[in-house]
Amino acid sequence: AGRGGDQRVAVIGLGRFGSSLASELMRRGWDVLGLDTDARLVQKYSDALTHAAVADCTDGEALRQLGVNEFTSAVVAIGTDIEASILVSTNLLEADVPNIWAKAISRQHGQILERLGVHHVVLPEHEMGERVAHLVTGRMLDFIQFDDDYALVKTVAPTVATGVPLGQSQVRSRFGVTVVGIKRSGEDFTYATAETVVQRGDVIIVTGRTHAVEAFAELS
Ligand code: ADP
Repeated sequence: AGRGGDQRVAVIGLGRFGSSLASELMRRGWDVLGLDTDARLVQKYSDALTHAAVADCTDGEALRQLGVNEFTSAVVAIGTDIEASILVSTNLLEADVPNIWAKAISRQHGQILERLGVHHVVLPEHEMGERVAHLVTGRMLDFIQFDDDYALVKTVAPTVATGVPLGQSQVRSRFGVTVVGIKRSGEDFTYATAETVVQRGDVIIVTGRTHAVEAFAELS
């Protein structure tokens, strides 16, 4: 269900990030209003989205006329033009749109948006860069970091986690991580319990403090 039952979202900027986001929201059954100054892009996505319109969203009046003020969610998917990103975010904040998301292309850009009061700021390139670094340098198959210091990792099980039931393996007390899921080759992922015995070659999902899961995933 959408926030407060409202499953409408305005996506401002239909570049690579905005158009991917808008398409995924459509796939999930949301109504998406896509806006861009570029008529070519609006034309390109007009069939795929609930509504698409050409608009310069730095113009608060244009946003009002399109009804964006009544939306409960909006995403500012403008990166390169930082000035436009800031002005559009300001317009949405002044219209009291309750859930505003914005992408930033640098930490400074992100800081400005946060100080303005944008509710959710994402840094797709920085976040993906950090994530891929974990995959390149280690044995991790996937890495997701929450907040500043907690992570979820997919990795091939190190020997310390194999051979005995997880409840007796002392993985949590020795390494500060918790095994939450396991996948045996050829099988689907399933949740892990204290009785689960991980075998060599199994892929596991582990959570814990970032440094703890990083260290654990480096064990062989
Ligand atoms: P990406 O890297 O995801 O492609 P860009 O920052 O390059 O992101 O693209 C942002 C999109 O936002 C572009 O399609 C651009 O035309 C659009 N855009 C820029 N300024 C405005 C504005 N004032 N109002 C509406 N759309 C805008």
